[in-house]
Amino acid sequence: MRANIVLLPGDGIGPEVVSAAVQVLEAVGQRFGHTFEFSEHLVGGCAIDQTGSPLPETTLDACRAADAVLLGAVGGPKWDDPRASVRPEQGLLGLRKGLGVFANLRPVRVHPALIEASPLKPDRLEGVDLIVVRELTGGLYFGQPKKREWSDGQYHAVDTLEYCESEIERIVDLAFRLARQRRKKVSSVDKANVLESSRLWREVTNRVAQRYPDVTLEHVLVDTAAMRLVTSPRSFDVIVTENMFGDILTDEAAVLAGSMGMLPSASLNGREGGLYEPIHGSAPDIAGQGIANPIGTILSAAMLLQYSLGLEQEAKAIERAVDRAIAEGARTRDLGGYLSTTAMTQAIIERLD
Ligand code: NAD
Repeated sequence: MRANIVLLPGDGIGPEVVSAAVQVLEAVGQRFGHTFEFSEHLVGGCAIDQTGSPLPETTLDACRAADAVLLGAVGGPKWDDPRASVRPEQGLLGLRKGLGVFANLRPVRVHPALIEASPLKPDRLEGVDLIVVRELTGGLYFGQPKKREWSDGQYHAVDTLEYCESEIERIVDLAFRLARQRRKKVSSVDKANVLESSRLWREVTNRVAQRYPDVTLEHVLVDTAAMRLVTSPRSFDVIVTENMFGDILTDEAAVLAGSMGMLPSASLNGREGGLYEPIHGSAPDIAGQGIANPIGTILSAAMLLQYSLGLEQEAKAIERAVDRAIAEGARTRDLGGYLSTTAMTQAIIERLD
């Protein structure tokens, strides 16, 4: 297979972890006889510095034409002023909107050898294997009006939480299809006791569920879901939820795995292409030191092979290599070890079968 992959290293540790994932993809290409062509483009703070825009048109065009996109992270203290009119995160939001990726998939598995690295009690963590499906292009982050107004001698701010039936249906349907390949349970998270958008979410979800009689559906209020993620995370298989609830719950779920550096994500549009990135940010506190954990990005590359290129075996080979490296004691600093980003990457490549 030949595939055209756009790389968006971005800011902070982004370039370090993307370069690690590229090395793994190249090793997989060699072993399995595929050619991956990589082209690098600007996004985020570095794009603002060089072009004035967090998402230059050339970047979006290249991403639209690619088979898949692998992103590092954007942002950092240099561009952090919330009142600035151009900010790195706009690049990320524009990219998601521009590629139409409405579903963000974040698997969370707790590796037995890393249970000690998690702040939770070991008995709560054994066997945790869940995936959060977060709606990505609607809800509070995009709804209009979104504005600030001066009245009565003070500012008033408005954000809008809006969903239509088709937006809910396509993400919930995707969650049910995923559940069929797993333990056949969907937990739909909402706030239906307070929010009208959640009541519509629940109605549509019940309708979709009728098409999947073999999958068990439960509705969970977001506050209960937040609690259950730390008290009984094993009780979840597929969690599906709207944009902001998903944003918050996925970071909470990330704690289960012991480090932000471990977790991958995929953002899909239900057709071709796809955007793959680790769930962590640009980690400015460790950028440039060569100590970032590359596993989240390497596992994102595995998801890229699986979901955008249909290379299931190759994806599994990467996951097994990561599991073996960890089981045999390879650890970056965030996991309590001493390996550099490069040494950890090498440890994984050596274990590719
Ligand atoms: P962060 O995820 O960058 O870092 C949080 C903590 O986790 C830091 O202590 C960091 O050193 C550590 N960490 C993160 N990734 C790691 C890795 N791979 N290996 C080892 N340690 C790792 O979150 P933050 O500090 O809140 O944000 C920093 C910047 O990143 C901000 O500008 C923020 O806006 C941006 N950000 C970007 C994204 C994205 O690009 N998708 C996501 C979140 C935050």
